[in-house]
Amino acid sequence: MSLLNKKTVDDINAKGKRVLVRCDFNVPLKDGVITDENRINAALPTIQKLINDGAKVILCSHLGKPKNGPEAKFSLAPVAKRLSEKLGKEVVFAADDTVVGDNARAAVAAMKDGDVVLLENTRFRPEETKNGEAFSKDLASLCDIYVNDAFGAAHRAHCSTVGVTAFVKEAAVGYLMGKELKYLGNAVENPARPFVTILGGAKVADKLNVIDNLLNKADTLIIGGGMAYTFLKAQGGKEGLSLVDDEKLEYCENMLDKAEILGKEIYLPVDSAIVSAFPDPIDAPVTVEYVDSKSIPDDKMGLDIGVKTQELFANVIKGAKTVIWNGPMGVFENPTLAKGTYAVAEALASLHGTGATTIIGGGDSAAAVQQLGFADKMTHISTGGGASLELFEGKVLPGIACLNDKD
Ligand code: AMP
Repeated sequence: MSLLNKKTVDDINAKGKRVLVRCDFNVPLKDGVITDENRINAALPTIQKLINDGAKVILCSHLGKPKNGPEAKFSLAPVAKRLSEKLGKEVVFAADDTVVGDNARAAVAAMKDGDVVLLENTRFRPEETKNGEAFSKDLASLCDIYVNDAFGAAHRAHCSTVGVTAFVKEAAVGYLMGKELKYLGNAVENPARPFVTILGGAKVADKLNVIDNLLNKADTLIIGGGMAYTFLKAQGGKEGLSLVDDEKLEYCENMLDKAEILGKEIYLPVDSAIVSAFPDPIDAPVTVEYVDSKSIPDDKMGLDIGVKTQELFANVIKGAKTVIWNGPMGVFENPTLAKGTYAVAEALASLHGTGATTIIGGGDSAAAVQQLGFADKMTHISTGGGASLELFEGKVLPGIACLNDKD
C-alpha cells in the first residue's frame, strides 16, 4: 500500500452529495469549555472546501473515553457551538445518544447543499471501538461519500474509521490526513538522504519495532532519553539507577550488530546529566552533575543527555536532509533536565530554510517542540503520536488502507 496515492477531497465530486467526514475533535474540555482549539482549527480546511463545493457536510468524531455508552461530559455539543462560530454558519448538532438516531436522520434529511451537521460522540456507541457492523452500516446510511481527516485515529480499526468504508462507494482522505501522509509517507517511503532518525523517551520496550524498522530505512539513528541506557548497558556501560530494561539487553545488542552489518551509524549519549532521585514533583528543582554515560555511579540516574552529547547529536543533525524525531532526550518536563531536548530541537530548527525536511512524530516530542518555542521551524508536526509511531514501525494503518486509491 502506498501512502502517497490515496484519493483526496480534491479528487471527489461532492456537489449535492452527503459527505461524512471523520474528524479528530478529541479536544480537551474543562467544565464544558474547550481549552485547546487546535484540533478544531486543523479540521477547518477540509470542512470549508466541502461547504464551498456544495456538499452536505456531516461530521463525526470521538471525544474522550466514555466507558459504557453516553456520558454528558463527553458530548460533542461544545464543539458544534465553537465550530459554528469559526465557520460563520450554523452547525446543526444531532444530539442522539445512539449517534445515528432520529435526530441525526432528520437533520441529514433536512440538509441543503453547503449545510453542516455534527453527529454525537461516536464512542457513545459501544460497538464503535469493536468495529461492529450495525453501527458501521448506520453511519454509512447517512452518506454517499466518506472522508477521513482524523490521522490521530487512523491506527485504530473502529466503525467510524474503518467499518463504515465497507458500506460506502467512495472513501477519500481529507487535507489534514493528506498532509500527514505526504510528509510521513515521503519520509518512510522515499526520504531525501542523509536520513537521520532521533528516538528518545522513556522505555526501549515501547519502541522495539520502531528502532528495528527505522534502522532499515534511515542512514543514521540517534538514541537518547531513558531508552539509551539499555543500549549503553548492552555495550558494557555502568548505568547506576538509570532506566535500564534488562530483558531487552539482547535486543539492543542485536540492533547494534544489525547497524554494523547494514553499515549504519547508531549514536548514543557520551555524557549524561545525573541526579540522585527522580524529581518529585517532576518540575521540582534538581542539582545535576555531568558524567560519562557509561560510568554512572550506582546511586545516581541519568535523566538527560550532557553537553558533549548535545554537540555530537547537533553535528550529526546538521548534515541531514530528512529528520524524524520521536521522544524527548531527557525529562524535559523539568527545566534543568530539558537542556538536551532543547539542544536537539534547536539543531532541527537550524535546518529551517536549508531545504531539509524535519518531522516531529507527535506525542511528547511535539509537546516539547511547542513548549520550547520551535514549532514554526519544523516542516511537519504530526497530529497523531500513536499513528505516526505505527507508521514508523512499518505497519499498515487500517484507517488508511481502507480508503480508495486515486483512479
Ligand atoms: P515516551 O512516552 O516513551 O516518548 O516517553 C516520554 C517520557 O520519557 C517523558 O515523560 C520523559 O520525562 C521521559 N524520559 C526521558 N528521558 C528519560 C530518562 N533518561 N529517564 C527517565 N525518563 C525519561
